[in-house]
Amino acid sequence: MSTRIFLPSDVAALIARLQKHGFAAYAVGGCVRDSLRGVVPHDWDVTTAATPEQITAVFADHRTITVGAQHGTVAVVTDERTVEITTFRTESGYTDSRHPDTVTFVADINADLARRDFTVNAMAYNEQDGLADPFGGQEDLANGILRCVGDAVTRFSEDALRILRGLRFAATLPLRIAPETAHALHETRDRLHNIAAERIAVELTKLLCGQNVLPVLQEYRDVLAVVIPEIAATFDFDQRNPHHCYDVYMHTLHAIDAAPSDPIVRWAVLLHDIGKPHTFTVDEDGIGHFKGHAAVGAPMAEEILTRLRMSRDTVQTVTTLVKAHDRQIPPTEPAVKRALGRFGESLLRDLIAVKHADNDAHALYATERRAQWQAVETVLNRVSEKEACFSLKDLAVKGSDITALGVSAGPIVGKILKHLLNEVIDGQIENDRHALLTRLHALLNEGVFF
Ligand code: ATP
Ligand code: MG
Repeated sequence: MSTRIFLPSDVAALIARLQKHGFAAYAVGGCVRDSLRGVVPHDWDVTTAATPEQITAVFADHRTITVGAQHGTVAVVTDERTVEITTFRTESGYTDSRHPDTVTFVADINADLARRDFTVNAMAYNEQDGLADPFGGQEDLANGILRCVGDAVTRFSEDALRILRGLRFAATLPLRIAPETAHALHETRDRLHNIAAERIAVELTKLLCGQNVLPVLQEYRDVLAVVIPEIAATFDFDQRNPHHCYDVYMHTLHAIDAAPSDPIVRWAVLLHDIGKPHTFTVDEDGIGHFKGHAAVGAPMAEEILTRLRMSRDTVQTVTTLVKAHDRQIPPTEPAVKRALGRFGESLLRDLIAVKHADNDAHALYATERRAQWQAVETVLNRVSEKEACFSLKDLAVKGSDITALGVSAGPIVGKILKHLLNEVIDGQIENDRHALLTRLHALLNEGVFF
């Protein structure tokens, strides 16, 4: 593994400026880890012996934002990015499993690296001194191992968010969790009750979008159940159905594995069958059914996501997908246009992605169903390219055209517009203003609506 790390010029300049003022400074954490993996870091963090006041003074000619003076972080804005510069520090006394009681600024990089969560995250680098790696992070990275810095039970007990961070790194990076770290993840999982819901949501979302979600959530389902207790009812839940080769939970994990790495789609897939255990029936042939599970699961999903303080938009979108995941859409233009009118294009595409993922995790008929949903997708591509009309707002006549003909305003106007929209969607008439007004006259003369 290469040890050469290329600091972007603005980051190198920040570090050089701190050094020139007599303060040790390094790039640290995820950016060093990702550079060593040969991946371009998405952000750069710097750690230094300078205190927040000293950092602010050294960068008096830059825009600086004090992120948390007591935690020793100042964000410095360069032409390229915002770099968080944090003072070397040690932390102690985590009585709430969440925040350190005491933060002490220190002069030594190794003391700062010791407070970091995992060995692969506890490395620092500058051009002068090279890599600071007191806990063997580089070797763990080369061997694909995620390991706590120090005693794992202690580290997870200090700050329980590290439990989810650990699962997140195992799900997103090619790393296996070291045995003692794995043991500690299970043992300390209940400490997650101390962590704020929004921080849990952020980590879970990142975790869900990883490449290795399946093995991680299979092995650590007990941890997942601490933050989403409703999911436990799906564990080992035998579907007693020939269409399914997995229990409800393993079906869910295989479906996540088959889904694109998109937060909304992955959340919807995680929760799509959450209602199943509550709707289970067995028929006279001994076959299991889950009638209405999507309708039961939707409010459960809404409650879970609201509890996790996800945005209103996310809650609504995911809940709609859970509710609709069982829906059939024939691959015809009218059906796809109606679905477009109901869901909008973006949500309909998400729904198709959920459908594909769900189908791919079934035992039987997956290929057949995949072909059917691919056909829906093909029709959708055609329809959306044509800027076709599929909702009232696209219709070439408006409510005012109807009231202008003497129909008094009220629900009847909406009923007439919907009738015209249906005729357009079914291809009986063009979405053309003149044609629609002519048709409107005819309908009113026939007295169809009165
Ligand atoms: P990402 O790729 O998500 O940015 P990262 O490792 O950079 O991963 P950050 O949340 O940006 O994660 O944190 C930066 C660094 O701070 C980490 O690499 C780690 O050294 C340290 N760190 C962050 N959170 C914790 C924590 N809860 N406990 C201990 N160290 C932490
Ligand atoms: Mg980072």
